[in-house]
Amino acid sequence: MRLLDMDVGLSMGRREPTRTSVRAAAISATEILVQRAALDLDIAPEEFDALAPNIMVTATGERLPYLQLSDALPNGSGFCRHLLGDSTIPVSVLIKSILDETNEWPRREFAVEAHRRSCGSSCYRCLQRYNNRNFHGLLDWRLGLAYLRAIADPSYEAGFDGDYGCFEVSDWVASAMDLAEQTKTFIPGNTVAHAKGRPDIPTFSLDNSRGRWGVVVHPLWDARKLFDRVGLDRTHIAIDSFELARRPLHVLQRARAAVR
Ligand SMILES: [Zn+2]
Repeated sequence: MRLLDMDVGLSMGRREPTRTSVRAAAISATEILVQRAALDLDIAPEEFDALAPNIMVTATGERLPYLQLSDALPNGSGFCRHLLGDSTIPVSVLIKSILDETNEWPRREFAVEAHRRSCGSSCYRCLQRYNNRNFHGLLDWRLGLAYLRAIADPSYEAGFDGDYGCFEVSDWVASAMDLAEQTKTFIPGNTVAHAKGRPDIPTFSLDNSRGRWGVVVHPLWDARKLFDRVGLDRTHIAIDSFELARRPLHVLQRARAAVR
């Protein structure tokens, strides 16, 4: 899983577009945590600051992702204290509930059929609020949940292994197929297919000659590993579904330039 592949700590101009999706996932995960913690503590989410996700290096040199939230007041209103391990709402319990309790927020709201069908990334019914308006373009509830689950469960693969049983990836194949189909609008005469032996992974030709292919992948997948496993050669390039949905023209242009 690409949990660390974030373009953290760089100025906007130097950010690598292919790594934005992982940062978006981590930002969305933080936002879900903030909103759920606020709900449980019966306070406004504005009492917390959702800080930028980052990467921490442990004493043994291991790199780990970390999500940060803090009290919004400079002298600390103390709300974050309630999330520590020995408190009433330890963050590990919170994450477990966020991921799997269907009657609690966020699952009970995100899962409402009308919302699920209409909300491809985020909206005012789920993660968007006025105070996080600068990040609306990066918020994605499915990605946020996937990031949290990957942190909580090291065996989770977000569909990489073909298992889409978890709530947040259960409609990924359908939306990836849609995205692949939509490339026909931008690439006249192109062909939509799927990876050999993996009907769940859509591919599409980058022109009308069928010599170069885009492969739609989940943003948290390790594309290199996938290409090895499925046997995709250098005529293929991974394009993550978050970027493809967000900036199709830009992404397709980049893909064409990369595969020659
Ligand atoms: Zn929504």
